[in-house]
Amino acid sequence: MRSKMPDLNKISPSFCAAKWLNVTIRLQNGHNHSCHHPVPHKIDLEEVKKNPGALHDTQFKKEQRKLMLEGTRPPECVYCWKVEDLPGDQISDRFIKSNEFWARPYINEIAKKTWDQASPPTYLEVSFSNLCNFKCAYCFPDSSSKWMSEIQEFGPYPTSDQYGTMKYEGKDSNIPLPDDNNPYVDAFWKWIPDVFTNLKVLRVTGGEPLLSKDCLKLIDFIKQNPNPDLNFSLNSNLGVPSHLVEKMMLNLTGLISEKKIKNSQIFTSLDTWGSHAEYLRFGLDLDLWKKNLDIVLQHSAKLEVRIMVAFNALSVFRFKEFLKFVMKKRKQYKTAPLVDISILQFPDFLNLLLLEEKDKEHIYECVQYMEAHSDKNVPYGFKMMEILKLKRIWEYSKIKKSDEELLRLRKDFMKYVTEYDRRKKVDIFEMIPEIYPAMKKWQQEQNLALKTMDFKKNIDWQLRHNLPVRFRNLTSKVLDTF
Ligand code: SF4
Repeated sequence: MRSKMPDLNKISPSFCAAKWLNVTIRLQNGHNHSCHHPVPHKIDLEEVKKNPGALHDTQFKKEQRKLMLEGTRPPECVYCWKVEDLPGDQISDRFIKSNEFWARPYINEIAKKTWDQASPPTYLEVSFSNLCNFKCAYCFPDSSSKWMSEIQEFGPYPTSDQYGTMKYEGKDSNIPLPDDNNPYVDAFWKWIPDVFTNLKVLRVTGGEPLLSKDCLKLIDFIKQNPNPDLNFSLNSNLGVPSHLVEKMMLNLTGLISEKKIKNSQIFTSLDTWGSHAEYLRFGLDLDLWKKNLDIVLQHSAKLEVRIMVAFNALSVFRFKEFLKFVMKKRKQYKTAPLVDISILQFPDFLNLLLLEEKDKEHIYECVQYMEAHSDKNVPYGFKMMEILKLKRIWEYSKIKKSDEELLRLRKDFMKYVTEYDRRKKVDIFEMIPEIYPAMKKWQQEQNLALKTMDFKKNIDWQLRHNLPVRFRNLTSKVLDTF
């Protein structure tokens, strides 16, 4: 596998073509990142007004490119460094992305550029608005209008990082701008004619793109300005009325038939199965999702369909059922959908490393299921790259957090789901009963930690006040908690 990847380390041990060629721009609040793993940074509005190209080539990003050319690991790319530092010859996204058709042919060209030169993207992901009908557990108000309303009503979550906190003021504000008066969207419509023919991939995300008027405007733009090399993709939660899905499929297949684009992909998301999936992706009606997926899959001879998985702590229990569903659809449609699994890193209290070891074992069962149903063993089976991504998660799950860090993550997890249930009027134990034994144990650990803290404070207090220290009673109190 490694031998098939580009030899990036010849350029530098931290070089990644995605930093030049790949960009996700969130026009709703003027944020940008390359690739999608680093935390987004703010685009300078004054710079963009003078030069719409600064929607991609921000000063901050140029500085990250400089680090890469010098062989220094940009801290924002920690996602890849963590994978590369795992035991064994792990392949990070730095290699996987640089090997993509939109990156590999251009590596030598960009390696010759100076760090501060502009670099038109070949892969552009854009969201016009945060308008969305879902509020997934790991989403954020700037990506979902439903989330935004919830935070405005109840404030952030009581986790240690106050999850959901928005920066309301200042240069770094991440508050979405109004859809009908957004200078970043205006800049986009000025910039896109300049870079459109350079694009190999254009992907629209959200919010929910099927609810966005700018998404339809973009389709009209493509009808007037064909790019026969373009792979045009849409992210959709497939939770919208079916007639909107049908209309979009007619538009996309029309663009392909008329050779106005090369091909198209529909990306949808699901992280596990049944009530577990509905808990995580709040707003999801799995039956409607399946119906809309079938509408999309009926066109899968013409376009590719992928299910994105943000693999997290609550994915593990019913993931195998999800994989079985995928296999069923692949047999039915004789190809799609593909599965693309990544590790959910943010928020960290939903990361799978907080799980009990025995619960992580479900991941290995899923790896075995995928291997038994690989395309070498069964028709339309899982491809090597799909299996590799789950294997990577299995390797990742073996990382050990310190006891203190585990205590903090689990405490945040429990605070989060307690508040999540209260606000959304759901019940995690009803929807994901498999998590109950672990949460019961974590609650006991939290109680013990609290009492131990009281114990230590008490001893300190006695010592500070020169009192004879009474260990026995205090210790027996702590032991009483078992
Ligand atoms: S090094 Fe990794 S995180 Fe950074 S841009 Fe490349 S693929 Fe993305």
